[in-house]
Amino acid sequence: MSTPFFHPGAESPDGVLHRIFGFRSFRPNQEQIVRALMDGRDVFAVMPTGGGKSLCYQLPAVLMPGVALVVSPLISLMKDQVDGARSNGIRAAVLNSSLEFAEQSAVLRSLQSGELDLLYVAPERFALDHFRDILRGCRISMAVIDEAHCISEWGHDFRPDYLALSSIPEILPGIPVAAFTATATERVQHDIAWKLRLRDPFVLRASFDRPNLTYEVRFKEPGEVQLVSILKEFAGQPGIIYRTSRKSVNDTAAMLQKRGFRALPYHAGLDDRERHDNQDAFIRDEVDLIVATVAFGMGIDKSNVRFVIHADLPKSIESYYQETGRAGRDGEAARCILLFSQADIPKVRFFIDAMTDEAERQRALDSLSKVVSFASSTACRRRTLLDYFGETYPRDNCASCDVCLGLHELTDCTREAQMLLSAIVRTDSRFGAAHLIDILVGSKNQKIKDFGHDRLKVYGIGKEHDKKFWRRLIDDLLARKAIGRSEGLYPMLYLIESGARILRGEERVELVRIREKKGKSATTKRGGLDALSDAEKQLFEQLRTLRKRLADEQGVPPYVVFSDKTLVELSILKPSTRDEMLTVSGIGEVKLERYAEPFLRVIGEFVGG
Ligand code: ADP
Ligand code: MG
Ligand code: ZN
Repeated sequence: MSTPFFHPGAESPDGVLHRIFGFRSFRPNQEQIVRALMDGRDVFAVMPTGGGKSLCYQLPAVLMPGVALVVSPLISLMKDQVDGARSNGIRAAVLNSSLEFAEQSAVLRSLQSGELDLLYVAPERFALDHFRDILRGCRISMAVIDEAHCISEWGHDFRPDYLALSSIPEILPGIPVAAFTATATERVQHDIAWKLRLRDPFVLRASFDRPNLTYEVRFKEPGEVQLVSILKEFAGQPGIIYRTSRKSVNDTAAMLQKRGFRALPYHAGLDDRERHDNQDAFIRDEVDLIVATVAFGMGIDKSNVRFVIHADLPKSIESYYQETGRAGRDGEAARCILLFSQADIPKVRFFIDAMTDEAERQRALDSLSKVVSFASSTACRRRTLLDYFGETYPRDNCASCDVCLGLHELTDCTREAQMLLSAIVRTDSRFGAAHLIDILVGSKNQKIKDFGHDRLKVYGIGKEHDKKFWRRLIDDLLARKAIGRSEGLYPMLYLIESGARILRGEERVELVRIREKKGKSATTKRGGLDALSDAEKQLFEQLRTLRKRLADEQGVPPYVVFSDKTLVELSILKPSTRDEMLTVSGIGEVKLERYAEPFLRVIGEFVGG
């Protein structure tokens, strides 16, 4: 390898892509953005999370003379980005308030002597005269605003200090300004472009499809058994479990710890120290699971999150998309599972009804109803999500959502529905779900005896099904408005509209049921880790351990050393030489130099022994 490092001008973007980043090809849209920037044009790019936005500016930053300024909203994000860039041998630094004075001076010195390709700065810097003066004396290649939705008051993480960025074109005339965001709504997009005063920008709006994510909605069963059994499927892989309240976050995290899972809680009620430590432990693969409220996620770029579980209803489709978006940034297969039951709706309604601002209340109700219809429909989840953002999914079958994978089957449950409805009628619509189910399955509890319900004609007629089945059926009948549920502490079920027709045999009920899995391969799309053979998985685990050790030695998160994708390819290819290793995605010159030896050794021992 005789090409000198960092020799601007001579090399092509393709060359840098291979040599520095170690990638085989550009992801969709990356190349156009790189070219636009190198032509000196402003850029406005909307690409989904995991779309590969960093590379769009890091690559030209290497090729263009001068230093690229990157504004990023959070200190933790900046640090991660700098670690990542440096791990590829890019000369990157960060300037923010977390640094000691001496460190700041050192960074400023290397900036002034032209020793940097990339400088990450906090937005407040641009308000400082001293900093502006320094910039005027430096050669700046471009200004980049990452997470640009932070400049919009309509955005989900608005940051007032971002407003200072409108002055960039004045402070730094004549250089391209690029804004990147993963926010899908048009309103925010317009606001960003306007606030940043971009000049005839090259605009790119990528598809919001995340092809490597599988979406699943499952009927939420009461209790902890369901979550635990799902988590067992993901043994040892990093994942996020979202819950609505701080209390449920704490309870779930404690329950999981008690059962031996490596899990930590995260919510705004924890003190700063603990919150930060828990996030860090997750980023560094020290725990597998983080149980969190929606407060979690913005500050992390962890690329190897393999699943996101929503154990409660998300607030809106937009937030569901954002939260699930944190899975699989590395492009490897990842799963998003939403646990949903109609029984959750009253809880959410309770909070919405307590809202005092009427407009806000209406918006919340509207969001809720969209989420409920997303979760209860049997249309392709991916299509529904993309529809929401005004995008039309081009294929009939996405092959990676529960609906398209055929995980559901319809079974005729008209007879069972009639049993339930007649139990409601025979008890004068005065009882709730639990008691009605007790009647149907023939429970012998005191309440049944007290009311003499063991003498009813319907007593015990449904015992061929378990309670879970009946709960699902009730859920379904509520959703299709065959029955209603009264408000209050002890909600009672009663017949409405189609309920009477079902009882008279004029309408049929088909229940969507999750098909019993006959071996995972038949149903879920296999990719990434799942695609590995057992032996390859063993090697993967060894490489993962090695990655963790090297990352700790260098004080960086494991995914900065190698992504999961790189480890998967190494486990399959089992390279024995440096040249072979260089063909693996994510291994460029510098990483080869740093890591070839230990990785080749572990692979060699695995193959040989
Ligand atoms: P975003 O900021 O858009 O969410 P990132 O820039 O963090 O996405 O990139 C997500 C992941 O994709 C990172 O692990 C990155 O290394 C990887 N990546 C980016 N571009 C490519 C590419 N051309 N080929 C393979 N992997 C890529
Ligand atoms: Mg990013
Ligand atoms: Zn689908």
